[in-house]
Amino acid sequence: MRTVRRNILLNPGPATTTDTVKFAQVQPDICPREAEFGELLASICGDLTRLAADDGKYSTVLFGGSGTAAVESVISSVIGDGAAVIVNNGAYGKRMCEIASAYGLNVLEFPSPPDEPVDLAALEAFIRRSGRQVSHLAVVHHETTTGLLNDIGAIGQLCGRYDVDLIVDAMSSFGAIPIRMEDLNIRYLVSSANKCLQGMAGVSFVIADRGRLESPERPQSRNYYLNLQDQYLYFKKTNQMRFTPPVQTLYALKQAIGELKREGMANRYARYVKSWETLKEGITRLGLKYLVDDKHHAKMVTAILEPECGGYDFADMHDFFYRRGYTIYPGKLPGFHTFRIANMGAIDSADIKVFVALLGQYLRSIGG
Ligand SMILES: *Cc1c(COP(=O)(O)O)cnc(C)c1O
Repeated sequence: MRTVRRNILLNPGPATTTDTVKFAQVQPDICPREAEFGELLASICGDLTRLAADDGKYSTVLFGGSGTAAVESVISSVIGDGAAVIVNNGAYGKRMCEIASAYGLNVLEFPSPPDEPVDLAALEAFIRRSGRQVSHLAVVHHETTTGLLNDIGAIGQLCGRYDVDLIVDAMSSFGAIPIRMEDLNIRYLVSSANKCLQGMAGVSFVIADRGRLESPERPQSRNYYLNLQDQYLYFKKTNQMRFTPPVQTLYALKQAIGELKREGMANRYARYVKSWETLKEGITRLGLKYLVDDKHHAKMVTAILEPECGGYDFADMHDFFYRRGYTIYPGKLPGFHTFRIANMGAIDSADIKVFVALLGQYLRSIGG
């Protein structure tokens, strides 16, 4: 098989992919309304559902679009007249608040420090004192802004006690960190093809409680392309997405799911953690600090405080790495000067070792 130049993506998604995933996109042309393609979609949906839930009770709804499309689909489709509490402890929690506001929903934003676990007692008091009928709560699992891992198990229990439907943005944890939706009391879980699944960008999905998807009580429709229930019901009837899907990306996703099954989710996460330990050890040796404490760290994306020496410039550092085949990413946290290094994707600790050596070389070159 031909090989493709191997770039190491240390940005927080899309992640580095294998050549087998890249080449899986090269297929004979097919109309996506053919039964053969429907079978591919159905098998992808079944596989994705089973990665997180019992496929007798949950289903996967696919969308063409980046991860935010699926997040927007859930938020704009399932919240009715009740209030939605949204935990904001990073850029992606904030994004959910912005989506809800764009649709004019009744949002109760719960701000929480970006580098510390959510204060569950405060969250509970917030729900009780809101004086509103809270119907939904949305939270990011792995906050890709900082690397913080939110305790969705504890939040799920809280939702159970208050009869609140839990929505989890698991964009950058699904495929690496095991999630059992029923045990965690999650009604809707959102992810995309191009992070820990190691597929191509362009497909996102919602895994949802089928009772909710099939419920005749639907909020008044306020969207069209992204309507979750319509997308689900149409697929159930036809094995087709309502509108043209990203055909080739879906072939790659099928291949990527196969590779995840062969590696095993536990092994995949162990590989990521090993890379993270290598990164942590390396940056610490170079005198750099990172934001989130190890106890609450997902170990897949690290927000590193920028070096304080005068010669430092993120854009220069980016270019230094880019020329050498490594892509790094700026920070996204107001008030903190950070850059981010992700270790998701088809890379391992040997790649991170090279990255750390190059980082040492760069820091010496600027007198750091
Ligand atoms: C990557 C990511 C998203 C979606 O980003 P897109 O650019 O739309 O794919 C949403 N939430 C989290 C937590 C993410 O990491």
